[in-house]
Amino acid sequence: MAKRIQFARTGGSEVLELVDVTPAEPGPGEVRVANRAVGLNFIDIYFRTGLYPAPSLPSGLGTEGAGVVDAVGEGVTHLKPGDRVAYAQGPLGAYAELHTLPAAKVVVLPEGIDFETAAASMLKGLTVQYLMRQTHRLEAGETILWHAAAGGVGSIACQWARALGVRLIGTVSSPEKAALAEKNGAWATIDYTKEDVVERVRELTDGAMCDVVYDSVGKDTWETSLDCLKPRSLMVSFGNASGAVEGVNLGILNQKGSLFTTRPSLNGYADTRERLEAMAAELFEMLESGKVTVDISSRYPLAEAGKAQDALQGRQTTGSTILLP
Ligand code: NDP
Repeated sequence: MAKRIQFARTGGSEVLELVDVTPAEPGPGEVRVANRAVGLNFIDIYFRTGLYPAPSLPSGLGTEGAGVVDAVGEGVTHLKPGDRVAYAQGPLGAYAELHTLPAAKVVVLPEGIDFETAAASMLKGLTVQYLMRQTHRLEAGETILWHAAAGGVGSIACQWARALGVRLIGTVSSPEKAALAEKNGAWATIDYTKEDVVERVRELTDGAMCDVVYDSVGKDTWETSLDCLKPRSLMVSFGNASGAVEGVNLGILNQKGSLFTTRPSLNGYADTRERLEAMAAELFEMLESGKVTVDISSRYPLAEAGKAQDALQGRQTTGSTILLP
């Protein structure tokens, strides 16, 4: 038997329960990973609350982890028992001691990257990789707006932007979060609880505004974000921390300056093993070179996953949080 977190109905963090299950044997093309550390992500909250429907209930939760390959199914050639690995994509069930998933979603971890760092950065770091290097290939000297700049994805984004020579303006909700984002390389920060974001962006850019806005807050910030863009530039809406953006009239893109918009996801970019491996190689290079360091601000035992989610949802966290099985 092995422990995992599951939920039988959607709702608040009280629906999460720690249970003993018989771990699934890996089928053809699958591996089973003995997790050493598990990543906590906002998407886990979307599944728990039902914003994103789980395929069936009861369901496991979580898509990010790092550990050691415990068993491999038929036809798996790039992994063997004992390999140190990490992963950042479904199926749900990473909040567990043992997790079985398609081998194509699992990459070998370089010696220099420990399990905690990997679990704290695979999903968030691969997200920054595709957003900054693929959705729009950022160039030195460009100016971007990044919401939640002191969060898990945001902390990596600030450092990656600095490494690229990109001017990242980060939004945050407190002076402590502003200081952290700036330490990580944000060119400037805006405390949206006290300052008008559009006006501050106008001042900071001498009226030029931003080349790209990266918005993971969603509903609350959609229109403000559009107002921070240069004409004909790109709005990247990649999350729903405040709720989903709904009912958009495409005409607003015309009114705000012939803008472009996209709603991307990690699964849409890391959709083949080759693409995942290439993206992971770039992330690992950033970590091993020290250009990006991962701030693990909180560690919780697996049993306290609900408490960890409440802290993330309640805007109390900075950087990454991990669960320890
Ligand atoms: P964070 O650590 O960034 O936590 C969320 C942060 O969002 C909070 O700390 C808070 O920062 C800010 N926030 C603003 N409004 C709200 C609100 N109403 N409720 C809660 N938080 C709010 O989380 P993650 O790093 O895990 O994820 C960041 C975002 O990126 C999420 O929206 C997630 O869904 C998205 N994401 C998208 C992916 C994709 O491929 N599309 C992949 C990975 C993540 P502050 O207090 O400073 O405002």
